[in-house]
Amino acid sequence: MTNTPADAAARRAVAPVICYPNDTLRLPPMEQYRAARATAQATAQTRIPPREARCFHVTAGSFFRISCPEGAQVGDLNLFAARNLEERFFSGKTRALYGSHVGVGNRLWSCLPYLRPMATITADSLAWYGQDEYGGRVHDVIGTRCDPYTHHLLSGQDYHNTCHSNLTRALAEEMRLPLAEAEAHIHDVLNVFMCTGFTRDTGQYFMKASPARAGDYIEFFAEIDLLGVLSACPGGDCGSEHSSDAATCHPLDVTVYAPKAGQLDGWYAPSNNRYSRRHAPE
Ligand SMILES: [Zn+2]
Repeated sequence: MTNTPADAAARRAVAPVICYPNDTLRLPPMEQYRAARATAQATAQTRIPPREARCFHVTAGSFFRISCPEGAQVGDLNLFAARNLEERFFSGKTRALYGSHVGVGNRLWSCLPYLRPMATITADSLAWYGQDEYGGRVHDVIGTRCDPYTHHLLSGQDYHNTCHSNLTRALAEEMRLPLAEAEAHIHDVLNVFMCTGFTRDTGQYFMKASPARAGDYIEFFAEIDLLGVLSACPGGDCGSEHSSDAATCHPLDVTVYAPKAGQLDGWYAPSNNRYSRRHAPE
């Protein structure tokens, strides 16, 4: 037990400040993206079967849409720079910059030392959801990914179709890597279509059935050449449990759209972060 200090109320009453005020970030040219998307043509589609993952490629300056063709299905997304697996999506810093969940206008940032936008969210058919009475929101950057180690820790059971393993198998196949080598590249995800939050009483991570329905989608503009890996979570809509074959699962689709020539005049792919990398004063 700790002793509550006499000025406890005063210490708690201190107003918070935002850790990372983000109003100095260069804003994405959303109007130009919208115009480019309006006449863009679908060029490729990848279907992700339930409880599996697949890789897909998106060229810088193209769009990609993740959709639920048959029903509510949570997706766990990893992103890499297409020619450099060391540059990967940085879920934690994306969260620090925008909050626990992301939406239209937010960008998915890459890890240090690159720290540049990999993709910008350009459309979200679930934007209407906002925040529910439990504090739940859609598309989180808090949930890491379901994985067989945590599952074994909590249940003593082996289950091989968690998103972590699905992403590992898909990347291993794409890059022709041994599973253990591919596994080292798998990172914390963007949870697309997942509805999550923290409980008010215990602060625990919660999930609830995704509000997505057949036809719902989230769309991104690729700021750099991307290799994406997407897992159709074994939790399905994540309304009850993950890490098992119990939930009803659906496929996910990834569709790539290429803009017409001239639509992106003036746009350029972002360069790596400009910090000097000296890590010490002169
Ligand atoms: Zn999962």
